[in-house]
Amino acid sequence: MKTALIIGAGVTGLCTAWHLARMRYGRVIVLDKGGVGDGSSSRAAGISSGLLWTETGVRARRHSLRIFRELSRELPGYTFHNEHGCLNLFNPALWPAREKLLPLYDRLEAPYQIMDAAEIRRRWPALNPDPDFLGLHDPLGGYSEPAEFLAALTRRVRELGVEIRESACVEALVTAGGRVTGVRLADGPLAAEAVVAANYAWILPLLATAGVRLPAKTFVHQRYVSAPLERPLVIPPVNADPFGGYVRPAAGGRLLLGVETPERDDFKVPGFGFRLGELAAPAGLLQATVERFRRFVPGIERLRWESTHVGLLSFSVDGEPIVGPVPGIDGLFVGICFHSGGFSYSPASGLFLARMVAGEPLPIDLTAFAPSRFARDETDRYLAATISQQQSFRRRH
Ligand SMILES: Cc1cc2nc3c(=O)[nH]c(=O)nc-3n(C[C@H](O)[C@H](O)[C@H](O)COP(=O)(O)OP(=O)(O)OC[C@H]3O[C@@H](n4cnc5c(N)ncnc54)[C@H](O)[C@@H]3O)c2cc1C
Repeated sequence: MKTALIIGAGVTGLCTAWHLARMRYGRVIVLDKGGVGDGSSSRAAGISSGLLWTETGVRARRHSLRIFRELSRELPGYTFHNEHGCLNLFNPALWPAREKLLPLYDRLEAPYQIMDAAEIRRRWPALNPDPDFLGLHDPLGGYSEPAEFLAALTRRVRELGVEIRESACVEALVTAGGRVTGVRLADGPLAAEAVVAANYAWILPLLATAGVRLPAKTFVHQRYVSAPLERPLVIPPVNADPFGGYVRPAAGGRLLLGVETPERDDFKVPGFGFRLGELAAPAGLLQATVERFRRFVPGIERLRWESTHVGLLSFSVDGEPIVGPVPGIDGLFVGICFHSGGFSYSPASGLFLARMVAGEPLPIDLTAFAPSRFARDETDRYLAATISQQQSFRRRH
């Protein structure tokens, strides 16, 4: 029986395992150095929109949003909240760049509605955009609670026969004659016909063990969840770029608020021993963010905040995900650099990776995401540099 090893039990790895198991690929083993969701997946805000920046992105997200809806019907304990779609908010300075993408959305038949501030207020009275703001509403978008999604998907993949091994750190990739033959764990080698590296922020040290480099950088990112509100807000998830963050309703009548830290330099993951729990959000960031959002979400300044989640986002040199076969090493695949949208990509990225592993045709052309698209010197320059989040791409969910 063929064996596929998946490194990383985050949403990318679990979705890949789920698709492979449904395709009856053979033996599927997911390995994580910690536990399920130990990476950024459990920290995500879980917001998803199909209105992205490139044709490949828009086409990929269409698959994701369809699969989120299917999983919401099929997985006990998981709901994809699509009741209000997803709202992307713009001020006059930010709108022109997005307006240029409307012909792409029209050509690909990605549904959207442009809303002025009055229309946004009429639809969701709890929101108060500035009079010159515009909303780009995605009726197919929405959000997931990451804890629900991870738990439900883990149960389902196990039911389908996938083996999930926790506390199993892959120390090295094993290759022979230009192909991957398995991985090395602390207690010895594990052989496989195919290996999928879905270990996101830890990808560089892993690929280095096979002499591979890809232009990936990670940035610290954070979100907060309030205590339950007396009267929960009826709002869609909002990607609120004019305020440098996003806001959505959260389980238990709470509110979730996420924010980027544009001035922070990229974070160089030291090795597999590094855990996201070592990261912290800057002091005073929550108060400053609430201050920025209080005009848009009146009353937010009165909320009590219960929890902070800090993780890493990963960006490639051209801002697009890296999904596909690693050149020069047959049988090795990566799914990384999903910017701030890897949760949202996961049902589709898992589908694409599973099809590649099984040698089956892809539902869309993924050339724009191929690992082979980077020149060696471009990769070396990107890896050698230190850049701040604001010098990278602004890519939301
Ligand atoms: C605060 C925050 C908010 C976010 N909000 C959103 C959002 O609203 N929408 C959205 O789409 N995305 C969002 N994201 C991004 C999203 O979380 C990530 O893109 C996504 O979770 C990546 O999933 P993954 O499975 O690829 O990686 P991860 O979840 O990071 O999983 C990688 C796993 O690999 C394991 N691993 C690493 N090295 C090894 C090794 N050598 N051996 C074995 N295992 C290993 C790790 O333990 C980890 O569990 C957010 C991120 C953050 C930090």
